[in-house]
Amino acid sequence: MRFSRMGAVASAVVLSAALAACGSSEKTADKQASGGDTKGALIGVTMPTKSSERWISDGDNLKKQLEALGYQVDLQYAENDIPTQTQQLDNQITKGAKLLIIASIDGTAITTQLENAKANKIPVIAYDRLIRNSPNVDYYATFDNAKVGVQQATSLLTGLKVLNADGSKGSAKGPFNVELFAGSPDDNNATFFFNGAMTVLKPYIDSGTIVVKSKQTDFKTVAILRWDPATAQKRMEDLLTSTYKSGAKVDGVLSPYDGLSIGILSALKSNGYGTSAQKYPVVTGQDAELASVKSIIGGEQYSTIYKDTRQLAKTTVEMADAVLKGQTPQTNNTTDYDNGVKVVPSMLLQSVIVDKTNYKKELVDTGYYTEAQLG
Ligand code: BGC
Repeated sequence: MRFSRMGAVASAVVLSAALAACGSSEKTADKQASGGDTKGALIGVTMPTKSSERWISDGDNLKKQLEALGYQVDLQYAENDIPTQTQQLDNQITKGAKLLIIASIDGTAITTQLENAKANKIPVIAYDRLIRNSPNVDYYATFDNAKVGVQQATSLLTGLKVLNADGSKGSAKGPFNVELFAGSPDDNNATFFFNGAMTVLKPYIDSGTIVVKSKQTDFKTVAILRWDPATAQKRMEDLLTSTYKSGAKVDGVLSPYDGLSIGILSALKSNGYGTSAQKYPVVTGQDAELASVKSIIGGEQYSTIYKDTRQLAKTTVEMADAVLKGQTPQTNNTTDYDNGVKVVPSMLLQSVIVDKTNYKKELVDTGYYTEAQLG
């Protein structure tokens, strides 16, 4: 088993017992949930894809923790195919699911399914990614996505030594050639990550410390549809051909996700980077996926953002359990996640920058990976 889940499961159980004991009279507005009849209920969980490790962990963690509370779970993956995901949601509603937990592929593409859920009084929790343009989203569990972007950009600047690890001004003056990548434009998170990163980078771009030599700085141009590593690799190859043929070197790459970082590093490698004469640029990432953590240890990728998916699952399970018991789940943000129709009450968790200096403390000591897994 990749993760030690017992702690998370145990605290979910304790929390739900505590909630049951205090018999909160708070009711979730307009929901059917009323204690007894949702005991052992079926919960539909839909995840975007198995092609990225993190979603496998998310799905496994959710299933285990929900089952530990006695719920039945229908867990589905859609291989990043929107019609597959909509069909899975239709099926879960037909099967009598009493609550849906959805990590959407395209946050705007499931409006019809959500209308159907609403008609059947099925509450909906958006998982990690906000579901947009629908009033029928009850809660949202995620990380502080703008902060993730800030952390990615900060780590890029630290890697370039423009900043010191403590955030103070570093020794390097630049100018540094940096290329920018963003995530999938249909994933609300991608904009949050990119905008968060740009709040940090913009002053350095304006002052000339950072030069985006390709001049490709707007979200639409740098976004990678469906977070596809091969698309990122191709874009990096194109950039190297179009912009760096004359001998200029890439010093840094803002990459929002480990899978993209791997594609980017591979394009760099086939263009002569990754040798003692020509080191890899500072490349960021996200998710602390195993291959990227190994790459960080091996001195290739510079950093990643660690988001503890065990914690996200735990938070979501607590939300689901509360909603099904007719209670109001805990949230900590009721301002930032406007989905175009309503501001969805959200629970935001905190992420951590991980690089070669702290991966042991953050990833091994916390039980996220074993030493053996990291080789
Ligand atoms: C998630 C990231 C992940 C990306 C690609 C985003 O919605 O928040 O953690 O890297 O999707 O799967």
